[in-house]
Amino acid sequence: MRCWLPALVALVLAGCAAKPAVESVPPPRTYAHGIGGGTFLIGGSFAPGRSPDGNSVILYGSEGSIVVDTGRHADHLTAIQQGLSGLGFPLVAIVNTHWHLDHVSGNPALKAAHPEVRVYGTSAIDGALAGFLATSAEASRRALADGTLPVAARAEVEGDLATIARGAELRPDVIVDESRDMTIAGRPLSLRVAHHAVTTRDLWIYDAAEKRAIVGDLVTVPVPFLDTACPEGWLKALDEVAASGAEQIVPGHGALMDVASFNRWRSAFVDFIACAKGTGALEGCSAGWLAGAATWIGNDTARAKAMADYYGELVRSGKLDGYCKA
Ligand SMILES: [Zn+2]
Repeated sequence: MRCWLPALVALVLAGCAAKPAVESVPPPRTYAHGIGGGTFLIGGSFAPGRSPDGNSVILYGSEGSIVVDTGRHADHLTAIQQGLSGLGFPLVAIVNTHWHLDHVSGNPALKAAHPEVRVYGTSAIDGALAGFLATSAEASRRALADGTLPVAARAEVEGDLATIARGAELRPDVIVDESRDMTIAGRPLSLRVAHHAVTTRDLWIYDAAEKRAIVGDLVTVPVPFLDTACPEGWLKALDEVAASGAEQIVPGHGALMDVASFNRWRSAFVDFIACAKGTGALEGCSAGWLAGAATWIGNDTARAKAMADYYGELVRSGKLDGYCKA
């Protein structure tokens, strides 16, 4: 099967999945709720035939509210805005865990609606705008022009192109390229930077008061999204999350995890990477992932297998090695 756009983050399914778009309505956001400590989770989505939205988190502090990651689609943005309007705290900060479009695309609209907001993130997006995203946009434009793009994927791709065209507006106001403790919106948070993990630099948050780690795409379901990853750095980052003292993990995609769940996910990830770096049949790597992560895959097996096959091959090909270089 032809993969027309493997390079556009987490859009791989639009081109490679066994089934084309079959649903236009995303599943219910079954895990959008208050999770304690003035914190609300807005669950992302990953409906068949549609590119994903990452999870968003709203944290309330004495001086306002913080949104962690802003999704990709308009309906996800609406859910964030509804969450923000609930308590009437002014939005003062956005924290982006990383630059993937399913986590930053809502930035411009939120900034427009809340001019005082400051965006915190790493500077890795600069390299992405000049490199990965520019290359992806070029490939998308070609695919749109030459008619090789499946009709069902056009709106998704056009949406991402519009976001990339506003790339400068996605950039952080406050660059956090090394780990540091900060007080944002009156709330003390530890911003941790993982180097060469999901992207060149990823931000994750340790909220010590709640013993909670908000880890972005260091944890994702139904598969790890390895498009721009250095697997070794990612493994190291997971070690750091495990050592943080967190009792609850908020993943970039999927439901909340306790430590036992996180460790099971991590173990499946460790095995998948080791397998893909080895010399055995890649189907065995996908099978191992499907077994180890079965809890989170549920009946989404066919899609998860297609993605695991794709990412296993990506790891084995050596194409990700460049993401490990300083
Ligand atoms: Zn994501």
